[in-house]
Amino acid sequence: MDIKENEAMALHTTFRIGGPARYFCEVSNEAELKEALLFAEKQAVPFFVLGGGSNILVSDKGFPGLVIKMRLRGKEYADDGSFALVIAQAGESWDSFVEDTVTRGLCGIENLSAIPGTVGASPVQNIGAYGQEVKDTIEWVEVFDPSTKEIRQLSNAECAFAYRQSIFKKRENKQLIVLRVAFRLSNDARPHTRYPGVSEHLLKKGITNPNAMHMREAIMSIRMSKLPDIRETGTAGSFFKNPLLPKEHSHIFKNLFPEAPLYPHTETHDKVSAAWLIKKIGGEKRFRRGDAAVYVRQPLVLVNHRNATAKDMFSLACDIQSHIKKEIGIELSFEVETVGEFL
Ligand SMILES: Cc1cc2nc3c(=O)[nH]c(=O)nc-3n(C[C@H](O)[C@H](O)[C@H](O)COP(=O)(O)OP(=O)(O)OC[C@H]3O[C@@H](n4cnc5c(N)ncnc54)[C@H](O)[C@@H]3O)c2cc1C
Repeated sequence: MDIKENEAMALHTTFRIGGPARYFCEVSNEAELKEALLFAEKQAVPFFVLGGGSNILVSDKGFPGLVIKMRLRGKEYADDGSFALVIAQAGESWDSFVEDTVTRGLCGIENLSAIPGTVGASPVQNIGAYGQEVKDTIEWVEVFDPSTKEIRQLSNAECAFAYRQSIFKKRENKQLIVLRVAFRLSNDARPHTRYPGVSEHLLKKGITNPNAMHMREAIMSIRMSKLPDIRETGTAGSFFKNPLLPKEHSHIFKNLFPEAPLYPHTETHDKVSAAWLIKKIGGEKRFRRGDAAVYVRQPLVLVNHRNATAKDMFSLACDIQSHIKKEIGIELSFEVETVGEFL
């Protein structure tokens, strides 16, 4: 296994931003992963597990330890009556995986089409889009725990999934490395078409009884019209989470801003559109730092127009955060994870 030194992280993130990783390697199997971890231990440096780099903002100073890029590949399908149990390795491309399942007529993750990144990262922030969340299909997640040097399987309940949240995001579990994820996908379920924009798109195409492939095509087409193409523009998608308001606060919010989109989330909380807050409350035009800017077609998405630094992007995100807080008292929290030193 080749360990590089001072590898520019800008080459490994969809933001195309990030200083050097002190050490960098790619691992294709468990033996290489163990070797990499041993190396980090011997050098007495921290490690960071990297998938596709599509949900991180790496500091201009880089990462002072070993970055381990997950390349473990492979998928297995097992039929289980009206369901299929599909086990995919962490380094598989998420969207190629979705395409493969949809091509086989399986239902459950088709609305998560065209999300960049890897299978291994999908449970980390419980990826979600267009009314689906990956937690609803995950049977178990297999992890390597460097502290015990053991592999163990976590059930769906043990992963403590919530909106863009899981145990893997908690500080005390940041060391857990996802090796494999098992998904339970349906052979015969009907897709989820109720999300605003999706049913209209299908109707326009004359599709009244959509299957998983119709949904995938619809979602890809909608996303293409709203989001930047990562092959051309540096971005990590939505920079902020949609804030969750307790029902008693969301009633007040709705009275103040009747036109604001508000989605029921749980019995106690509603979800406010962060994109709406940035656009209407923030006034998107004023937010820019160097080449770091708000994307014109979707204010929740921050983009690197060419030469933005991590400092530019971080300052832009903080400007937006503090403006919304000052104007309306709502705290926007980052969906994108910052890696390395920022302050
Ligand atoms: C254009 C665009 C659109 C997007 N749209 C959506 C969307 O609709 N919904 C959504 O939820 N997200 C979206 N995202 C965010 C992102 O694609 C997802 O969060 C994705 O799951 C990140 O995967 P990754 O492999 O790139 O993870 P990375 O960015 O490499 O890592 C993210 C985190 O996961 C950890 N991690 C990665 N692999 C492992 C592993 N094997 N074991 C343990 N930890 C690991 C990393 O350490 C880090 O903490 C979008 C991003 C972009 C650029």
